[in-house]
Amino acid sequence: MTADHRIQGISTAELAAQHGTPLYVYDADLLRDQYRTLREVLHPAVEIFYSLKANPNVAICAELRKLGSGAEVSSLVELATARRAGVDDARIIFLGPGKSREELAEALSEDGCTVVCESFGELDLCEELAREHALSPRVMLRVNPAFEVRGAGLSMGGKPRQFGMDEEQLLAVDEPAARWPSLRIVGVHAYMGTRILSEDTVVRNTEGILELAERISSRLGFPLDVVDIGGGLGVAYFDNESDLDPKSLTQRLNPVVETFHARRPGTRVIMELGRYLTAPAGTYVMRVRYTKTSRGERFAITDGGTHHHMAAVGIGSFVKRNFPATALGRSADTETEPWNVCGPLCTPGDTLLKKASLPDLRPGDLIAIERSGAYGPSASPVFFLSHGHPAEVLVADGRAHLVRRRDTLDDLLGKQVPVDPES
Ligand SMILES: *Cc1c(COP(=O)(O)O)cnc(C)c1O
Repeated sequence: MTADHRIQGISTAELAAQHGTPLYVYDADLLRDQYRTLREVLHPAVEIFYSLKANPNVAICAELRKLGSGAEVSSLVELATARRAGVDDARIIFLGPGKSREELAEALSEDGCTVVCESFGELDLCEELAREHALSPRVMLRVNPAFEVRGAGLSMGGKPRQFGMDEEQLLAVDEPAARWPSLRIVGVHAYMGTRILSEDTVVRNTEGILELAERISSRLGFPLDVVDIGGGLGVAYFDNESDLDPKSLTQRLNPVVETFHARRPGTRVIMELGRYLTAPAGTYVMRVRYTKTSRGERFAITDGGTHHHMAAVGIGSFVKRNFPATALGRSADTETEPWNVCGPLCTPGDTLLKKASLPDLRPGDLIAIERSGAYGPSASPVFFLSHGHPAEVLVADGRAHLVRRRDTLDDLLGKQVPVDPES
């Protein structure tokens, strides 16, 4: 990592000076590369849908849409974001275990968006809404599979879950056409988990889901127009991890898809990806405010913290693991020392880096946390201590665009309603 950190030739330090810190910076080239590298080798029958919850910025979604990606959304605002990013409704699926009546009324459609139903109660509500609006909407069934695939520390399926309907329950449904006469059940969805870094797990999940989808559609007697095989491909964050190799992954995955596709050429296959697409493209930039020592350890207190980047806490193992980080403007070969890098929140949990090897830090220094484009502010306690959402900059075609401004005092306080003493 060079200390002179640039994104498409633009100095990250200059972006930090111009837009202030803490700041998220996204590199559209990295985003595009990540998508295209996979797209080029992935079986052409597999469509990539972007899971907006990984990074709901409309500009990010628009970049991926321009490359051909569909969208997987889980709220009305995510649906509106995908539409604003130019995603065609026919390329949007709406899922989530607790959709409201309002969300379903907006998303149910005959030839647009596809709703993925996660419970029998939701199917009943969709039926009611379909009748109310005289629609025959397309819906998919999210299944909670009975099979279990172990790999890379992950073991999923076969567990009680709030997501989807248990495979056993779905297979026991009698006469779905009589129970939900207005709905057109067109497909099956399964999602086996996140941060998968094992080829074997991806391949075996896919085999299991394709087989199960065929079994469910033939047992329930609906045409299998779509199978969503989930996704959840990970990226390497920590020392002991390595990235998936798209070539080697698809050499094993494509034959599984091909066998299915040859048998059912009319069935669409969707893969949902969030983290995999956006994580490598994002950098979280923060500035050191104070340095100090406490009982023999060094601390740098920065203006950025876990309220914007909860993922960097590195939970999920007994030892805290650090995201890749660099001190900008410091030559990489200076002697490094262990630093605890903490944010402004009044909790010991606000530790972004623990005993990280960084050069001798001083107030004013910038620290960049890499691979931060997924599950940043949207998956963090942004309102804790009321600092609000950071600014976001997208560098595309050699130009920096402010794609989200920092929350202001009015943004944060304006929605509070003081009690009127006169009332
Ligand atoms: C969160 C989620 C995704 C995206 O997961 P990633 O690991 O970021 O790819 C996709 N599908 C479903 C159903 C999800 O809940």
